[in-house]
Amino acid sequence: MSKLKAVISGKCPQCRKGDMFEHNALSLSNFHKMHTHCPNCGLKYEREPGFFIGAMYVNYAFSVAIIVATGIGLTVFDLYSIYNFLIIGVGVTILLLPFLFRYSRIIYLHLFGGVSYKSDQMNKSKA
Ligand SMILES: [Zn+2]
Repeated sequence: MSKLKAVISGKCPQCRKGDMFEHNALSLSNFHKMHTHCPNCGLKYEREPGFFIGAMYVNYAFSVAIIVATGIGLTVFDLYSIYNFLIIGVGVTILLLPFLFRYSRIIYLHLFGGVSYKSDQMNKSKA
């Protein structure tokens, strides 16, 4: 599985097989629950205490992108008003919250977790 596919499907950065999250993103009361360790290879996802606080910056980047895209979209379609901007920008951000939360953590762990991919063969030769 490619790194991009592992990120999109929320897989472990080390084995790219184990899920990072316990439930589906559409499970509104459980979308945030993560496995502490990879169910496949046992990698500890929280690399150090408070590791995922850094995912806040990824989430912030997503939110800014949504707000900017909303502003550009409203301007292009000549619908811009401060009310439209606030309602649509904030509304889209809230609707996408489960995905923003999960993908900010997934991307942060994949980019800054310091975990390299180990294929099955490499795992076997180590054991
Ligand atoms: Zn794993």
